[in-house]
Amino acid sequence: MPIATTNPATGQVLKTYDPMSDEQVDAAIERADLAFRQLRDTSFAQRARWLTAAADLLDAERDATARLMTTEMGKTYAAAQAEVTKCATACRFYAANAERMLADEPADAPAVKATRAFVRYQPIGPVLAVMPWNFPLWQVMRFAAPALMAGNTGLLKHASNVPQTALYLEDLFRRAGFPEGAFSTLLVGSDVVDRILADPRVRAATLTGSEAAGRSIAASAGRELKKTVLELGGSDPFVVMPSADLDKAAEVATTARCQNNGQSCIAAKRFIVHTDVFDAFAEKFAARMSALRVGDPMDSGTDVGPLASERGRDDVHAQVQDAVDNGATVLCGGEKPAGDGWFYPPTVVTDLKPGMRMWSEEVFGPVAGLYRAASYDEAIEIANGTNFGLGSNAWTEDPAEQERFATDLDAGNVFINGMTTSYPELPFGGVKNSGYGRELSAVGMREFCNTKTVWIGAGEAGAGAGAHAE
Ligand code: NAP
Repeated sequence: MPIATTNPATGQVLKTYDPMSDEQVDAAIERADLAFRQLRDTSFAQRARWLTAAADLLDAERDATARLMTTEMGKTYAAAQAEVTKCATACRFYAANAERMLADEPADAPAVKATRAFVRYQPIGPVLAVMPWNFPLWQVMRFAAPALMAGNTGLLKHASNVPQTALYLEDLFRRAGFPEGAFSTLLVGSDVVDRILADPRVRAATLTGSEAAGRSIAASAGRELKKTVLELGGSDPFVVMPSADLDKAAEVATTARCQNNGQSCIAAKRFIVHTDVFDAFAEKFAARMSALRVGDPMDSGTDVGPLASERGRDDVHAQVQDAVDNGATVLCGGEKPAGDGWFYPPTVVTDLKPGMRMWSEEVFGPVAGLYRAASYDEAIEIANGTNFGLGSNAWTEDPAEQERFATDLDAGNVFINGMTTSYPELPFGGVKNSGYGRELSAVGMREFCNTKTVWIGAGEAGAGAGAHAE
């Protein structure tokens, strides 16, 4: 894929970049390695000052940065502004809490023969971050802020369609005061990722992206015995039960499906509605979806901007067409608009069946699949009947049912009477083909730390020496 900024609202190529040479990549890895030796020895207080400076810059530069993101990938300007603010908030959160999150932890119980035993969390070195374009600032920041606070350094291989946001991020951390090389952007294609991963100075990798990219990076990292965290796709269920507040559920369902022009891994994608309230919900939901305004993402009246690429838009339309060709019903939308830009209307499709692409694939655009369930058990069966397991939503006022959903939904998170989102203070990640490992919170921060056991004794052999000396 060429490394270029192409405005999805017009299809115009605005700026292209030559990929970095092997020598330039090697030099960046060397700088990341040298910066790590410096960063790991700085205090939490010093790193917090730098990260707080980054937050201040983000706040001060919010509008220009938001405009850049909207131009590169088409999210609405308002959503882009909110994304910048979310990044600044996360920086402040990790600046304030990292030291506590990574403090030494005493052993669960007095360790045998130790005078003192504890766990110490230490940074591991340069981490390669392969990132997607859909939240071009936030996806990177949710890796970078905790990683830098832990004392690691970052090498960013961003998606090829958001090079200017990628360069902005490198510049942001430099201007905030982090040492040269602490965070570097590598303008390279995905074909160079294996070579970077094989470099002994690169200690681990995190990828947010598609299942295919996840499989590829996990295989390469496996060969190199390097740890990976994978945040992959999702086809999140949104279950509506008879006790739910249907107006509220339909309102949130619309936002949950169409946020970021429908291009979010944790967007609700499959709406599974109890048969008692199916017709009422379907009517409210389709009415709200059709009322959304599609258009110029810079216009404050726009709810849904263009999809990020022509290929993405064509693929979404092909998924809808496949369902229609095989007997599904379109309640609203479903027509590919003519004209410039990669727009697609909010669409609701029902009467879906196994074998249709929409049944099993992630739909990365403003298209909702609507499913009917005769009971709680059938709702769970449909919800979990997917290879994905990222987010999940259930709407019910019944406390016993809420408890059951919390346990029975097979996903990395369950949001009851609300919409899945990510918070700096809560772990984020998936199960099954949605990936493994976690980002955010102390759990995410420790993914790229050495969880080091420290045992301090009085000169005797440790616990179980001899028979269990392993
Ligand atoms: P993508 O094609 O997998 O690209 C993501 C990143 O991986 C890009 O930097 C891309 O580089 C790189 N890449 C692609 N194939 C690769 C390979 N074989 N080896 C190494 N790197 C490779 O995904 P996308 O279309 O940009 O993003 C959409 C997907 O990301 C969706 O499936 C979505 O659900 C998922 N996602 C998941 C999360 C989460 O938190 N779980 C969050 C956001 C998005 P190039 O751009 O140069 O190809």
